[in-house]
Amino acid sequence: METKELYREILNEHNLNPAHKKDADGATLSLNGVNPSCGDNITLNFKIDNGIITDGWFTGTGCAVSQASADMMLDLVIGKKQDEALRLGDIFMDMIKGTAAPAALAELDEAAALQDISKMPARVKCAVLGWRTMKEMFANAKTSAAFGNPHCEADGKIGH
Ligand code: ZN
Repeated sequence: METKELYREILNEHNLNPAHKKDADGATLSLNGVNPSCGDNITLNFKIDNGIITDGWFTGTGCAVSQASADMMLDLVIGKKQDEALRLGDIFMDMIKGTAAPAALAELDEAAALQDISKMPARVKCAVLGWRTMKEMFANAKTSAAFGNPHCEADGKIGH
């Protein structure tokens, strides 16, 4: 199958039947991610147990690329360690910049179908929205954990 055709097929499939777009309870981490240039707006949810992503889903609205990319990302990272998910995120970002090695692309599975986005600058922010949101979410979680008490940290009154 031609790359372009594959790209369209996979995009359609994840839009018509998103496996991970749903409303659910019990998230241990949630974060809203917005791409104002297109109007994409998603909330990403993860259940994390012992550093492993045991479940994940998203809600929201947006263009086909943003929704399909978030769905594919969840396909890929559920069941993996947070660090591993971040490593895959780095590969995805490299792919979008057009600098990922072919061997690394194979690790992205279906998400590799989005590699032509690197030639469509207007779609880049749509494609990376889910990944960017995940990265930010994990970074935030790490910061709170470092202080032991997220409430104190949020107030800026550490150690009281
Ligand atoms: Zn978009």
